Amino acid sequence: MSNNEAKTAKDLAKELLNPRKNGFFQVTDEQIAAADAFNEGYKAFLDAAKTERESVDYAVEAAEKNGFVEFDPAKKYQPGDKVYYNNRGKALCLAVIGTEGCKNGVRIAAAHIDNPRIDLKPIPLYESGEMVYLKTHYYGGIKKYQWTAIPLAMHGVIVKRDGEVIKVKVGEEPGDPQFTITDILPHLGADQMQKTLGAAFTGEDLNILIGSRPVREDEAAQAYKLNIMKILNEKYGVVEADFISAEIEFVPAFRATDIGFDRSLVGAYGHDDRVCAYPALEAILDCGTPVQTVITVLADKEEVGSMGNTGLNSEFMRYFIADLAQAEGYEPRHVISKSTCISADVTAAYDPHYAYAYEAQNSCYINGGLGVSKYTGARGKGGTSDANAEYVAKIRKLFDDAGVVWQIGELGKVDQGGGGTVAQYVANLNIDVIDIGVPVLSMHAPFEVVSKFDVYMAYMGFKAFFEEK
Ligand code: MN
Ligand code: MN
Repeated sequence: MSNNEAKTAKDLAKELLNPRKNGFFQVTDEQIAAADAFNEGYKAFLDAAKTERESVDYAVEAAEKNGFVEFDPAKKYQPGDKVYYNNRGKALCLAVIGTEGCKNGVRIAAAHIDNPRIDLKPIPLYESGEMVYLKTHYYGGIKKYQWTAIPLAMHGVIVKRDGEVIKVKVGEEPGDPQFTITDILPHLGADQMQKTLGAAFTGEDLNILIGSRPVREDEAAQAYKLNIMKILNEKYGVVEADFISAEIEFVPAFRATDIGFDRSLVGAYGHDDRVCAYPALEAILDCGTPVQTVITVLADKEEVGSMGNTGLNSEFMRYFIADLAQAEGYEPRHVISKSTCISADVTAAYDPHYAYAYEAQNSCYINGGLGVSKYTGARGKGGTSDANAEYVAKIRKLFDDAGVVWQIGELGKVDQGGGGTVAQYVANLNIDVIDIGVPVLSMHAPFEVVSKFDVYMAYMGFKAFFEEK
């Protein structure tokens, strides 16, 4: 206990109250320059890897350049060894073996590399009004009106019956064609304008325009659709039925760009959650030899609830840790139960134009640093892992000691809505876990905005978590 009687109110306030301070008043000019430089790499990643598969390809290439090799469960590893496990080209675990290995648990940073987008239906191709379209099924939580009348690019794979995998990416290179979903002109929008935002655009309306010229032969059936198939067959060797075994994702064709005269922000498609995936990847590439073994997990399927064998509601991460534990002679469940995790996922940044949806005192702010969320979920904390106070205290100390600028907030007002992350599935393994990530404006829109400062603090924070002695 301290004697407060002798102190002035100013001293007392400094000691006792918890001020909110913009990050720019807490760092040096050098750190701001370092943040700007870090974001140049981040923007290059955003443009190179717009899907989960492309993110895995990017991460594997970067890892191999930094001395990571493919994990072999039959092998014994030494401190400083770097390994990765590629789960079906859509999810990835990277590990650096620590000086004490798995003995006292591992440290995990888990981010996701799938983003909201427009997927194709299994039989997508059709013609209508003498034009050609693809039928779609949207992926993740989107506001459908935002995805019309913008340029789209096509990414993904087509797997032929014989197993041949054809990678496709159209609309990203200069000179590539792009695609779009049309909207009704305002002049004829009277009926649409009467509808609510939720009702005006249905999932079945999100059809992508991909052509308008027929094969020039009289009497040809489905001449418009046939002309597109002819082009696709010449380019990729595919037939219409090959769409059945394809994973084609349409994403905004925008490139990542600086936003603002001061270039303080980055605008791009799919910050959620590549804005945590990239710092988590860079942190493990740069972390040296840690004490505890550290793992960066880049997971798929978070935007649809982490279901499926590349999502974190499956066993793939647990199996990976179990293999590491067994190679050192430990019981996997003992290692897993002693492990700790940062669920590295974005949070909502306070937006003054929609202030009614936030509780200002418990919101995360642009340039406030890395955003910590003790819990997410909805209603009465439903559907979330509420991090233990003891673990929150450890994270506070870790970040403060490492000079990481951070803040804590909730995802909007109580009962305004809510969201979930992978934290609950990690917690199910008996691991201490907390959500920590970058605040985002316009989350899940085709073009999202983050602060360069906050992105850099994510890197600093994840690295400090890996390097803690
Ligand atoms: Mn997310
Ligand atoms: Mn999301």
